[in-house]
This record gives sequence, structure tokens and C-alpha cells, in this order.
Amino acid sequence: MNNHNLLTRSLAAVWHPCTQMKAHEVMPLIPISRGEGVWLYDFDGNRYMDAVSSWWVNLFGHANPGINAALKNQLDQLEHVMLAGFTHQPVVELSERLAALTGLGHAFYGSDGASATEIALKMSFHYWRNSGQPDKTNFISLQNSYHGETIGALSVTDVALFKDTYGPLLRQSTQVPSPDMRLAEAGESAEAYAARCVQDLEAHLAQHHHETAAFIVEPLVQAAAGMGMYHPLYLKQARALCDQYKVHLIADEIAVGFGRTGTMFACEQAGIRPDFMCLSKGITGGYLPLSVVLTTDQVYQAFYHDQTGMGFLHSHSYTGNALACRAALATLDIFEQDQVLKANRIKAAQINELLSPVIAHPKVRNFRHLGMIWAFEVEPAATDFANGFHRSALTNGLLLRPIGNTVYLMPPYIIDEEQMSGLAQGLFKLLS
Ligand SMILES: *Cc1c(COP(=O)(O)O)cnc(C)c1O
Repeated sequence: MNNHNLLTRSLAAVWHPCTQMKAHEVMPLIPISRGEGVWLYDFDGNRYMDAVSSWWVNLFGHANPGINAALKNQLDQLEHVMLAGFTHQPVVELSERLAALTGLGHAFYGSDGASATEIALKMSFHYWRNSGQPDKTNFISLQNSYHGETIGALSVTDVALFKDTYGPLLRQSTQVPSPDMRLAEAGESAEAYAARCVQDLEAHLAQHHHETAAFIVEPLVQAAAGMGMYHPLYLKQARALCDQYKVHLIADEIAVGFGRTGTMFACEQAGIRPDFMCLSKGITGGYLPLSVVLTTDQVYQAFYHDQTGMGFLHSHSYTGNALACRAALATLDIFEQDQVLKANRIKAAQINELLSPVIAHPKVRNFRHLGMIWAFEVEPAATDFANGFHRSALTNGLLLRPIGNTVYLMPPYIIDEEQMSGLAQGLFKLLS
């Protein structure tokens, strides 16, 4: 098998995601033959450091020995069984461990991030209906939010490029001002700006709480908006307002969960517990599609009834897939065994140090960092900056995929010292 062969066959037979396929007339696809650790290898002997963790899913590197072994073991026992009417060891154990980590004791599984968003929205609405408040049918999200691209998830997403075309298909939702500190006034602190955005949320809730089911939010980092970061005060106060106005708080931790922001879950930094937490992406260490919505006893009890229709009659064929759950358990094992959160704090400090020439670069604006995420805007940026930067990065052995003029790093947690300095040097070279 060679590179060219796969390339032309893929273009003929595979419709690639988030891609204008015609762009591949000039921008070649890259067939990957294998992965190991932070590296992806092509068929021509080139390797690329996966500095975006393959769209934010990979935590412990490609072909991780621990996850591989767990999956091989699981394969010989049970690959999958329908979860309606049946259960199995990996799904039970994973649910228990996630409950212990989040304080949310009921786990409903989906297959990917967008399906978790759909589940949380439907569950919230259905909770209010079961609780005698059928008028609570609306949802609030943040300006520039991203919660996935199926029709329900897209309804609470606020990214024009993904959303505008499908406008006529979507249900209206309300966007409140985002506390993203890039939007603060000059001289205004992130905290003061967050407090100002809380007032907008309160004004909306005061007027519309009777018809509002839930506020869905990406805790601390609006990733798809270009790693927009904000002060935890916003979440803390949003939680208090949601309690006051009897509106659910849905924490979409699909991108930020599993240590990305420095704590296991981003909500911890605000000291809050949401009514629903959506998890996916890193949950299986980047191995298999799996998502979960975790929720409270109170929500669960509102569905527990003699009548079938009061239950949550939602399903996906691969709900709670045994292999995916086993990969998730192996991922949680690595967090514990390697004290990953602690190790990441040391790595993050090293990366910050190594990035100091980048931070000081005259084209770099709004440099920011949280946990294992780094981002900045490049100004002035060439036309078609993102594609150009992506291509040059690949030529330099780095997989980076800017969002507009925002360059970000989201490396796998197993990145070592040599790889960190290679990444920082490569990044600096790309800016020059
Ligand atoms: C990626 C993402 C989603 C959607 O997940 P998919 O698996 O791509 O459907 C939802 N919310 C956030 C915050 C995300 O980053």
C-alpha cells in the first residue's frame, strides 16, 4: 500500500468531515500509516507531532500500551451487548467511577459529543415536563458557544460558519454575552468582565425563567471559539442564578473534561456541580467513540415511574459499548497510577517557560494558558492564515490546526521534555 494509492482512493470514496472537498485539489490529504505516542507516521517516513491531540481526543498518546492491553483483554470477553435490558462489567464500573469523580450518580451513554448534548437537552426538557412545568422548553447558551453539529446541538451552538446554512432547520435558542476575556474592555480584568456578563445572564433569567429549561455552557474554555478562556467566577455565579431561577445548568465538558484545564473537570475550579455534565472526547483516551451525560438523583427520580412514557425513551445502538467503556476505564487507571494531574502541572510550567520567545513575539496577541491548553492570536495574519499555517507546520513535523487566526496547542499529556522543546521551537520558527 502506498501513499498515493490511499490518497486518491480516499478522495474518491470518503467524504471527509468539516472539509470543502474541492480544497483537496490543492491541499493534499495525508494518509497515516501508524501512530505511536505523540507521533503520527505517514507512508513516506515523515512523522508529525500530534499537538492538537487529534481534535482534542487523545490524552496518553497513540497506541498507548495500557489502553491497548485493556482493549485486547476486553475483546476476548465481550465486544458489545445492547444496554437495554442488559448490563456488563465495564459500563457499571465506569459509571461508578465517574459518579465518584463528579458527584453525579446517574450515567446515560451516547456515542459522541453531539449525542451527549442532545441527551442533556432532551432530559432537561423532559424533567420539567414530568415535574409539571411543560412551559420550560427554551435553552440558553453563550455567544460563540459550540456544543456539536447535529440539529439539536447546533441549535445551541453559536458558530456562524457551522450554523447559518441550517438556520431554517433549527429551533431558536438564546445566546447571552460570553465572558471570554478577549471580549473585555481594554483595562478590564477577566474577573470584572465575567461579573458584567453575569448581569446579562441574570437579566435574561429574571425575565424568561418560566420558559427556560436549561443554560448550557462550556466551562472555562470555549474551545471551538478559538480557545476563549474566562474567569471561574462566571460559572460560580451562573450556578447560583440557575438555582435561584430554577433553570438547569448543563456543563458541556466534552472538550475540557479529563484534565485539560488542570483539574479533572473544569467545573471544579469554580467549586460547582452542574445538573448535567456532558463528557466525550478524552473519555476513552482518544480511542473509541463514547459519550456520557451524568446527572443528579433529583433528575433521575423525576423519570422513575410506573408509566413508560415518563421514562427517558432515548437510545443509540452502541450505547455503553463494552470496548469503549473498557478504554475509558484504562484511561482513568492511567490518571490514578501516573498521578497525571500533578505531572501535568509540572509539564505545563515547563511548556510556559519554553514558550517565552513565542509569548514575546511581536505578532502574538492575547497569549493565554490553562492546564494543558495554550492559545494566542496572530496579528497581522496573512489571508487564509489557518490553512497556510497548518501546511507549514506539517512541513516542520507538527500537526497544528489554527482556528481563524488563533493558534493553539493541546498536546497529549505524555509529551516529554524533548518533544516539548521541539514543539516550542517549531512554533517559534513558524511565526517568524
Ligand atoms: C467537540 C465538541 C462537541 C461535539 O462532540 P462530537 O463528538 O464532535 O460530536 C460538543 N461540545 C464541545 C464543547 C466540543 O468541543
